[in-house]
Amino acid sequence: MQAQDSAEPYEGSELFKLRHTAAHVMAQAVLELFPGAKLGIGPPVVDGFYYDFDLGLDENGRPRTFAQADLERIEKRMRQIIAGKHPLRTKVVTADEARELFADQPYKLEIIDGLLRGEFNEYGDDVEDRQRAIDNLVISTYRHDTFEDLCKGPHVAHTGLIPVDAFQLMSTAAAYWRGDQSRPMLQRIYGTAWFSKKDLKRHLQLLEEAKKRDHRKLGRELELYIMDEEVGPGLPLWLPNGNILREELEKLAHEMEDAAGYQRVATPHIAKEELFRHSGHLDYYEESMYPPMEREDIRYYLKPMNCPFHHKIFASKPRSYRDLPLKLAEYGMIYRYEQSGELFGLMRVRAAQQNDAHIYCAEDQVEAEFTAVIDLYRHYFSLFGIDRYVMRLSLHERSQLGVKYADDEAAWLKAEAMARRVMKASGVPFVEARGEAAFYGPKIDVQAWSVIGREFSLATNQIDFVAPARFGLTFTNRDGQPEMPYCIHRAPLGAHERYIGFLIEHYGGNFPVWLAPEQVRVIPITDDHHDYARRVAARLSEAGVRVHADLGSDRMGAKIRAAQLMRVPYMAVVGGQEAAAETLAVRYRDGEQRNDTPLGEFVAHAQKRIRTRSGEL
Ligand SMILES: [Zn+2]
Ligand SMILES: [Zn+2]
Repeated sequence: MQAQDSAEPYEGSELFKLRHTAAHVMAQAVLELFPGAKLGIGPPVVDGFYYDFDLGLDENGRPRTFAQADLERIEKRMRQIIAGKHPLRTKVVTADEARELFADQPYKLEIIDGLLRGEFNEYGDDVEDRQRAIDNLVISTYRHDTFEDLCKGPHVAHTGLIPVDAFQLMSTAAAYWRGDQSRPMLQRIYGTAWFSKKDLKRHLQLLEEAKKRDHRKLGRELELYIMDEEVGPGLPLWLPNGNILREELEKLAHEMEDAAGYQRVATPHIAKEELFRHSGHLDYYEESMYPPMEREDIRYYLKPMNCPFHHKIFASKPRSYRDLPLKLAEYGMIYRYEQSGELFGLMRVRAAQQNDAHIYCAEDQVEAEFTAVIDLYRHYFSLFGIDRYVMRLSLHERSQLGVKYADDEAAWLKAEAMARRVMKASGVPFVEARGEAAFYGPKIDVQAWSVIGREFSLATNQIDFVAPARFGLTFTNRDGQPEMPYCIHRAPLGAHERYIGFLIEHYGGNFPVWLAPEQVRVIPITDDHHDYARRVAARLSEAGVRVHADLGSDRMGAKIRAAQLMRVPYMAVVGGQEAAAETLAVRYRDGEQRNDTPLGEFVAHAQKRIRTRSGEL
């Protein structure tokens, strides 16, 4: 299973235990150095661990924070505790014993109460099935040296198993208790911990690389998109270079979908309240929607999804089994009111354009259609060189039928079985997650890792047996009877915004030739060679290559550096010799140089790279 060689330690793994233990050791060190600190929670996370502390207020009445020097002291003390090789011992306690043990730790007391009510777990996360949580409740603690924590483990056997040269405290951040802005603000310390110094070093190098590849940084440098205060947070403006990426992706989707028999439609960005009432969005999704606008006593909403519009198109005329599968596709804009704190460059935005489509089909077509959708995902992954990904099949939770999920267990089981069979037969890596489904059916999310190991949630699709009923969609089956179709929602390229954010980091800005906003830059050696440079550019442009001749006043060396900064795949350097022989001195982005390349040969080479969407230069 590919998910398991990801950076995320699954619960109970050795890395999980190591990091979890490091969190305890850090908490002990903080309590010793900051007597009176109150403990929040301290779980292992991707790449490391954290712990939240309440240090009380400073003289200005603001929450006290950790300084860099504090982290160094804490780290030093942690090394001593580790060297003590203190065993970790667990015991089960009653609620009263737990309350007594943590009498001076108000946040721990709150967690104990939450555990008893089945409301949340040891990490302060909300629990969905309270009764089950209460029935299975065991309160336990873990102790090492002088420190005891409310904890269900697991941990390594003794503190000495944390390699002293393979952990590091990384940063601090403010975090509200239980993520609630009305509760106290705590101070979080993030740490990272690995099996060996080598692993730590590699991790730190990847972080450096990730910083260099940050899509917000590259987005600015490569002039792909901007955010403007006056336009609003989470509402990106695409610059000409970035828009080329969008159009290339859309062209790719268009070609793939045309070949697979999709038909394109276009729908408005807003609709009346009734539509979103009907679809269920206003009942289940309103907090993610923009507030309504009203005119002449009619309320309108910006669309958070394209689905209801496509359902209306399906319903616009009588459909027969001969029309199925009917595949309606649209690169549709959607608007979602993401919380301010969640906005993140192109990854979390409030306006996005989705590679959306809805496949309406009969029950006996679902598996074949779903298989074709999975194949499409795989085609895209291989095209973009994404070789680490995992699909998550999200299923319903029986106790939430009629609350969070459509109340029809038989339909759930049938749809889930179909999805599972397809995924097994396809051989894609997948895991199952109970209780994460969409309201209207099982959902498949795709987690992918970029080449530097950053994790992204890229796309979802769903098998929907609810919307067709809500919208009264039917087709006439072979027996002449009305039958309800299934609807497969799919968006394999997700939204332009997030997908491009991912690709920027995945490629570090070095887009394959077909995607590169500028594919060739022609650089004359001196002013005497402008004519030939113009002719070369014209020839390439006619051949459908995105080219720019740099006829500015900079010296050649500066022009080459400028083109390198913009990650242009090919630089065609031309002087007298090239003009006389109709050739180019081609400098490739990766540093290779080929002199005396005949112009016609280079044009054909570039065209071929573009046409085949090759990843090679
Ligand atoms: Zn623990
Ligand atoms: Zn949909």
